[in-house]
Amino acid sequence: MTKKVIVIGAGWAGLGATHHLAKNGYDVTLLEAGPHPGGLVAGWKTPGGRSVEVGIHGFWYPYKNIFSLVKELDLNPFTPWTRSAQYSPAGLEVESPIFQEMPPLPTPLGTFIYTQFKRLPLSDRLSALPLLYSLIDFDNSDEAWRRYDSITARELFKQYGVSARLYNDAFNPMLLVGLFAPGEQCSAAAALGMLYYFILAHQPNFDVVWCRGTVGEKIFKPWVEAIELLGGKVETNRRVTDLILDDTNKARAVVCGEEMFDADAVIFAVGISGMKKILSGSAALQSRSEFRNLNNLGGIDVLGTRLWFDRKISIPRPSNACFGFDATTGWTFFDLNAIHDEFKDEPGTVVEVDFYHANQLLPLGDDEIVEIVKQYLATCIPAFGEAEIIDKTVVRLSQAVTHFFPGSYQYMLPATTSFKNVFMSGDWIVNRHGSWSQEKAYVTGLEAASLAIDLLGNGEKANIIPVEPDEEHIKVARTVNRSFRELGKSIFPNIWLP
Ligand SMILES: Cc1cc2nc3c(=O)[nH]c(=O)nc-3n(C[C@H](O)[C@H](O)[C@H](O)COP(=O)(O)OP(=O)(O)OC[C@H]3O[C@@H](n4cnc5c(N)ncnc54)[C@H](O)[C@@H]3O)c2cc1C
Repeated sequence: MTKKVIVIGAGWAGLGATHHLAKNGYDVTLLEAGPHPGGLVAGWKTPGGRSVEVGIHGFWYPYKNIFSLVKELDLNPFTPWTRSAQYSPAGLEVESPIFQEMPPLPTPLGTFIYTQFKRLPLSDRLSALPLLYSLIDFDNSDEAWRRYDSITARELFKQYGVSARLYNDAFNPMLLVGLFAPGEQCSAAAALGMLYYFILAHQPNFDVVWCRGTVGEKIFKPWVEAIELLGGKVETNRRVTDLILDDTNKARAVVCGEEMFDADAVIFAVGISGMKKILSGSAALQSRSEFRNLNNLGGIDVLGTRLWFDRKISIPRPSNACFGFDATTGWTFFDLNAIHDEFKDEPGTVVEVDFYHANQLLPLGDDEIVEIVKQYLATCIPAFGEAEIIDKTVVRLSQAVTHFFPGSYQYMLPATTSFKNVFMSGDWIVNRHGSWSQEKAYVTGLEAASLAIDLLGNGEKANIIPVEPDEEHIKVARTVNRSFRELGKSIFPNIWLP
């Protein structure tokens, strides 16, 4: 008989798992609490027909598995590689080239030499050099995560002598947009992993493309159609509340309001806040300490706004990150006339402005938020000051994105659980692939599907593209470093805090 798998949550992870299981002939049903598939990347239209989504999502050079999926689905959703800029209240701070077009240099030289800093003095930039040791030492292993997760990213940078200006004008802004939190609230392990993956592992890694419309329209809609053609079911407006266990402590069904869905295996693909909500009403999950421990984890507030201005404003780069406006909030703005096909011929300007760690902005009314956004935009590009806003959308997402805070790693779950047929996926799961954000979420979905296939016995494991190996000089440095560590351990008693 065809085995039944229930997947919970229709973001990158859940759709990835469902697609792979459907391809392998499983009777797979994806249950999604919200009205649209896509999770944090869902897109929809307002009653007036305007396209909206929760923030603009970039696809970086190392997102090989997502690029491969898009090819498999025969889609063409992306812009060419784009250049980006950074602003502070003082004006333009940084411009990035398209790194793959520059002569290749051994990492991290390309990043340091080709990034155009407008104000940051060379002496401050050079203060990053000692930090390279921690990038070598942090090899994404479980041991390295435990070593670095208990201190904050700020403490790490301070320990290695990074100058205050480099921290405030470069590293902290990167953490605010990459991990959604300021350095004093980020785990040093997460900071090192994220910076290495997106910026330092290989010269082109910081190159990015964007969807030429909402990701919902350009990728998720055709993807869901492909899944349905394979026989997979994607059911929206279905909020899962509990698991039913059999007497061997395996899940035998999933509870969703008044309905029950039988299951031979279950894959959770739900964010941390969603998992905590399910836990609060689930006797099955509450019976296990690994799930009770999820209450030690948390999410971060984000805010997405889309503004229509009455006139054309020249925005030098399509994607822009900003810092120094609020101590603990980062924000980005995107020229949607340049990125999205539907706004190319718009008579005015359409911008998306997203705020990360936006806790203090969420309680404000839409008009108050939009006033702040307009002021901030005008600080970066003065022409925004004179333009009128003719339409707007404001989306508040409380506790939505994963908070990699110091000490959080020990509570994050691996893909396997103490229920033999229940698997975890999502961008917060502990795995060793080395990717982050959307790419990681998709990869963990494929990993969870492969584990279900292993257990249930039918089909092929997913073919997951590994991250590009370290460059040779990094490999050598890591081997030497590991040997010294092992030697140290064999000589000295291991009594120190990790
Ligand atoms: C503003 C913003 C900007 C971002 N920018 C980028 C970027 O530029 N590049 C990038 O790679 N990443 C970016 N990210 C991060 C990226 O969106 C996430 O890493 C990724 O989408 C996580 O996917 P996921 O499948 O793990 O979880 P999610 O997308 O959170 O999906 C989880 C799903 O589970 C559903 N769910 C929850 N509870 C239940 C329940 N009880 N029953 C059924 N379903 C449930 C939810 O409704 C949701 O659809 C950004 C995120 C935000 C918010």
